Amino acid sequence: MNRTNERTATTRMRRDQQPQAHTDDSYRSPLRMRSGTACSKCGATYENGRWTWHASADKTRQIVCPACRRILDQVPAGELVLAGGYLAPRRDEVLGLLRNEAAGEAQQHPLERIMAVDAQPDQVTVRTTGPHLVRRLGEALTRAHQGQLTISYGDGEGLLRAHWTRSASK
Ligand SMILES: [Zn+2]
Repeated sequence: MNRTNERTATTRMRRDQQPQAHTDDSYRSPLRMRSGTACSKCGATYENGRWTWHASADKTRQIVCPACRRILDQVPAGELVLAGGYLAPRRDEVLGLLRNEAAGEAQQHPLERIMAVDAQPDQVTVRTTGPHLVRRLGEALTRAHQGQLTISYGDGEGLLRAHWTRSASK
């Protein structure tokens, strides 16, 4: 086997080993999507290059939008973890704030929604269909309740992770 063939074989093997599952790209809107394309699940409509809630005059085509696909597949784009002793006695208040903030965001950006809230006794995980919402929720939280917010991208998985914590006040 000559050198070139060896290299080709190696490249091919590596490509096969790459996970085929959900890369971030699989949830992007198709590049040449037509205006008037609507989501059959949530009713969001693609108009002039962006998703809106405005009903289209003529819906030419129905698809499932990227946000609804993430919800169906349970593949979040962002994750906000809340922890710390401050949280437990104020959990309902904090979650109410996050839901209000999310409703405001989804109004403007249909693809940015909360898809799941996992409330454990000492920790709450909020999963979203878009990364911008995680940032917005984290910032709203620190504005209203102070605490510490750290935001980081997972390694190559396209998931934005935020962690908020505040210890119990004395
Ligand atoms: Zn949808």
